[in-house]
Amino acid sequence: MAQAQLTIDLAAIRANWRALAQLTTGEAGAVVKANAYGLGVERVVPALAAEGARRFFVAAAEEGIAVRRALGPGPEICVFSGHMDGDAAVLRDHRLTPMINSIDQMLRHVEALPGHPFGIQLDSGMNRLGMEPAEWSALRDIALAQKPVLLMSHLACADEREHGMNDFQLRSFRAMTDGIDVPRSLSATGGILLGPDYHFEVTRPGVGIYGGLPFVEASPVVTLTLPVIQIRDVAPGEAVGYGNAFVARVPTRVATVAAGYADGIHRALAPKGSLWAGEIRCKILGRVSMDLITVDVTAVKQVPEHLELLGPHQGIDTVADAVGTIGYEILTSLGSRYARSYTGA
Ligand SMILES: *Cc1c(COP(=O)(O)O)cnc(C)c1O
Repeated sequence: MAQAQLTIDLAAIRANWRALAQLTTGEAGAVVKANAYGLGVERVVPALAAEGARRFFVAAAEEGIAVRRALGPGPEICVFSGHMDGDAAVLRDHRLTPMINSIDQMLRHVEALPGHPFGIQLDSGMNRLGMEPAEWSALRDIALAQKPVLLMSHLACADEREHGMNDFQLRSFRAMTDGIDVPRSLSATGGILLGPDYHFEVTRPGVGIYGGLPFVEASPVVTLTLPVIQIRDVAPGEAVGYGNAFVARVPTRVATVAAGYADGIHRALAPKGSLWAGEIRCKILGRVSMDLITVDVTAVKQVPEHLELLGPHQGIDTVADAVGTIGYEILTSLGSRYARSYTGA
């Protein structure tokens, strides 16, 4: 079978959430946007709910539909993009809670869905989403009269502990919300690790649940192994792959494995990246093709049926470094052709 195997460890997901929830002084929610960072909401969300998560966050209202289906009634599902034109029916039918980002969204919401729960997103300095301080002071009394269920903002630099932006945004968020009797939320994974000053009543961990930095202590969640289709011996002077990008200088044994950039394995992984055959690192040779990768297995006595791309020897952040990106993007790029299985349910 020429299908790569992606294994997602639900027990590790539960353990990571529990660890972040234990670090949180208030309640820990769970961010499950982008199909739970590519890992599958229909399995991940019930696992998190079983562990005790009661408040989930998605990017867009449409994403909330599958999360509600996985959860059933009860837990709250918050939508970061707020209440967009055309969202009313989805928000109402699936009981989603929009995080209102502007006066326009506020008007749209109270007009279309009076009495329907909402939260408010404030911009404490990131300049991405949320009401800015001046907009908030203009709307604040009217908005509070409608009884928002959450006031939230988002940190731009929380993965850098010493960054001055963290304290700046904390003070800005406090200035906008101190004295208001509504639960507050400022921190994602990085903010949780900055300490209790940043926690308020609700935290919003995402990447740490899925085993990524900045949560250094996270248990790894994903294993990805690629089947070996063919092995050949290449003589000095012979080339491998598109563009003759690799030319052997010594006799080299080459394994061709079944996965490529169409599966989200970035072309930039060559030539620096590696796969693993048990304890042996096997360098990628030549370019990453759409469906295939060629690797050096000269040092491997008995080439296994699968080589490891993600697993105990290299995690999402190691692969991300090799490609020049972050673990988040490695997760959300995981391909749709992989045979997915879940363990630890
Ligand atoms: C994605 C996101 C989170 C989760 O962030 P992580 O760094 O993955 O923990 C939290 N809040 C907002 C607003 C987000 O967009």
